[in-house]
Amino acid sequence: MENIIVMDYYKYFSNREFEEANFYEGNDLGAVWTKGETFFRLWAPTATAVMLNLFETGDQEDLIESIPMVIDEKGTWVAAVNRNLNGIYYTYSVTVENESKEAVDPYAKAVGTNGNRGMVIDLSSTDPAGFAKENKPLFENATDAIIYEIHVRDFSMDQSSGMTNTGKFLAFTEEGTVNSFSDPTGIDHLKDLGITHVHLLPSFDYATVDETRMGEDQFNWGYDPKNYNVPEGFYSTNPSRGEIRVMEFKRMVQALHQNGIRVIMDVVYNHTMECEESNFNRIVPGYYYRMTADGYFSNASACGNETASERAMMRKFIIDSVVYWVEEYHIDGFRFDLMGIHDCQTMNEIREALNRIDPSILMYGEGWTGGQSPLPDYERALKVNMCKVDSNIAAFSDNLRDGIKGSVFSKWDRGFVNGKEGMEETIKFGVVASTSHNQVNYQRVNYSNAPWASQPTQTVNYASAHDNLTLWDKLALSNENDSIQDRIKMNLLSAAIILTCQGIAFFQAGEEFLRSKPRDEEGTVFEENSYNSPDFVNSLKWDRKSDYIDVYNYYKGLIAFRKSYRALRMTTTAEIQANLRFLEGLQPNVVAFMVNQAKETICVIYNANRETINLQIPEGEWNVYAKELLAGTEVLETITGGEVTVGPISAMILVTQHL
Ligand code: CA
Repeated sequence: MENIIVMDYYKYFSNREFEEANFYEGNDLGAVWTKGETFFRLWAPTATAVMLNLFETGDQEDLIESIPMVIDEKGTWVAAVNRNLNGIYYTYSVTVENESKEAVDPYAKAVGTNGNRGMVIDLSSTDPAGFAKENKPLFENATDAIIYEIHVRDFSMDQSSGMTNTGKFLAFTEEGTVNSFSDPTGIDHLKDLGITHVHLLPSFDYATVDETRMGEDQFNWGYDPKNYNVPEGFYSTNPSRGEIRVMEFKRMVQALHQNGIRVIMDVVYNHTMECEESNFNRIVPGYYYRMTADGYFSNASACGNETASERAMMRKFIIDSVVYWVEEYHIDGFRFDLMGIHDCQTMNEIREALNRIDPSILMYGEGWTGGQSPLPDYERALKVNMCKVDSNIAAFSDNLRDGIKGSVFSKWDRGFVNGKEGMEETIKFGVVASTSHNQVNYQRVNYSNAPWASQPTQTVNYASAHDNLTLWDKLALSNENDSIQDRIKMNLLSAAIILTCQGIAFFQAGEEFLRSKPRDEEGTVFEENSYNSPDFVNSLKWDRKSDYIDVYNYYKGLIAFRKSYRALRMTTTAEIQANLRFLEGLQPNVVAFMVNQAKETICVIYNANRETINLQIPEGEWNVYAKELLAGTEVLETITGGEVTVGPISAMILVTQHL
């Protein structure tokens, strides 16, 4: 399409009158199946004709018939087919400006191979036994979350997983699996570790992996959306039958729920894989995307385009999609990729829609973009605008992420745990979950000079995620002259910080056994952007759990400790201000604080120095729960307070009856 035409559309769609005349509020977009009739409704206000095409399969030349749709209210087109269409595939042919284009229904609930046709589906037939009435694991406050970020394929592809359904959703249903040393893997591992949520990298239908070549070593993270309301076919056992991926995704969710683990989806509404030829753009050219002043697709995603969440029907699409995943698949949370592209109003309306179903559903995202956006900064859900969104919407803290171990953009940069001076205030900023606290000097905080979270429920604290080097690889590069033993201490100190900070705790799968993504056999070159790297780079190497079982036990112990002390998971800034005091007058590279809970006081000390330190804590009977390489809910020793000794590069956690 000529840019000038796109630009004309853009102005046309940006007119409030257009939105008012064409906003369709109903909940029946897509194909609504009943045994006797399937009713189709498509929003296409600029179309002059729309045909509904029915097919036997998702990818063969087997058109059954094409049915003209009729114009209905608010720019929608409708058709009713009076027979049982369950399992029948469909597309729309939409004519705009005398040009007809075939598109998949953005509201499709099932698709065929590679997502090139929608499929009409009787969703009730896809529920595993007991799913409709299942109980979700109990969960109350966002700050109770301990989130484990995992890619579906990575979870099971390595031989050491001991799993059968390698690379599939169903791997999450396999209990009793073990690695080469008979240590538990898979869902048993997750349960033993004690995390509250798994966060799945994009698991809706994405474009880049070819579902006709299922047995081959293909890989993608999945940040290339194609069909938002359908699970990815590559993770199913049969992508050519639309109902299979739906059933298998539900079985995965059910198995995780039965093991006490909630499920978060990484969602990527900020852009689509295709631009001009996306389904959105084939149906209503120019409506769903932001454009630059000179008529090109704007590109705040750095992936070729950015969607226009401020447009009424794009906003509605996102809200409808999120609600659909909750209601149909029982999803418990959403991580919004490049959330800073979306406008604050959309994020707030999603929150309101979710609150009506279940307020404990998590919402968090990246409070930044991948480039410039034409929508003004003040309207978008950037980290600095967290004050404009609901207190139950959180952003990732890159402040703490890089303050702990160095910038993700530099291999050599270091942070608090691995030898950089002057990082104390950034660590304290993490401890108070980016909120306001009168003992934090914000002028000395990494990347921010003011608190950006109004409540601790707005901060996700982390040291590693799928992007960039794993924590262990980062330490290998930034601290190549340090011993493995010292790097393990740095890694454990990082874990101690993440798991004793206020806010939401998050880490990448495998961090608990020193995950590495080496590109070569020698293990000296590491992948920092493994979005399409082979399995040998990406997959979880479960045997490492046994190699580093002490590291695993440290993570497990800290998780258990965090879960048993509500004082580490306070829900309001006021509570933190009233109950958390930093110790002052400490030597450099030490952060320590005391936090009160009911009749107890917890004292947490982080020593990033390479020497043992001594510091003063109040006299009393202190039970030590974490020290050097050990952490957990069992008392390691009892000391009397006064002067305490903390080992090199380590955390110490002590608890006493109220002082
Ligand atoms: Ca796909």
